[in-house]
Amino acid sequence: MTTVLYPGSFDPIHNGHIEIIEVASKLFDEVVVAAVRNPQKGEPLFTLEERQGLIAEATSHLDNVRITMFSSLVVDLAREVGADFIVRGLRVVSDFESELMMAQMNKRVSGIDTLFIPSGSSHAYLASKLIREIARYHGDISSMVPPAVAKLLEEKYPRGDGST
Ligand code: ADP
Repeated sequence: MTTVLYPGSFDPIHNGHIEIIEVASKLFDEVVVAAVRNPQKGEPLFTLEERQGLIAEATSHLDNVRITMFSSLVVDLAREVGADFIVRGLRVVSDFESELMMAQMNKRVSGIDTLFIPSGSSHAYLASKLIREIARYHGDISSMVPPAVAKLLEEKYPRGDGST
C-alpha cells in the first residue's frame, strides 16, 4: 500500500489543487492532504479548521483521500502519517525552482522523496493568492473554486462592508 502526503497552504483550495489530488488518488492507494500554516505567506485568510473543512468537502467524491492539518515540519508529518512520498503540484517553470530546493532539503533531512504532478494547462494559472484578490473585489471566481469555497469567500468579503 502506497500512501502519499500532499501538503500545502490551501488558502483556499482551488480547482488546480483538486486536479492534483484527483491524479494522486488514481495513482496511489491513499492520499493524505494536509493544510499547513506557512509563516512565510503571512496571515492566512482562512483558519486551518476552515481550510480543512473546505478540502474535505471538495474531495468527498474520492474515497482514498484523508485530510489533516499541521503546524510542524512537513517531513515530521510525513513520518507521522506513514507517507511513502510527498506530492507537490507544478504550475509553471518558476514553481520548479523553489519546489526542487524544498524537495532536496526534505530528502536530505528525512530521506523522503517528493513526486511532482504537473497541472493540466487549463488550471495552470490558478493560485490561491490571486483568487483571494479577485474575491476581495467581488470578481467572479465561481469557475476557479468549488461552490463551498466561493460561498465562504463571499462571507469573508461581503459586498458593501467598506473593506474594499
Ligand atoms: P504552499 O504554501 O505549500 O505553496 P499552496 O496551497 O500554494 O501551498 O500550494 C500547494 C501545492 O499545490 C504546491 O505544490 C503548489 O505548487 C501546488 N499548486 C498550487 N496551485 C496549483 C495549480 N493551479 N495547479 C497545480 N498545482 C498547484
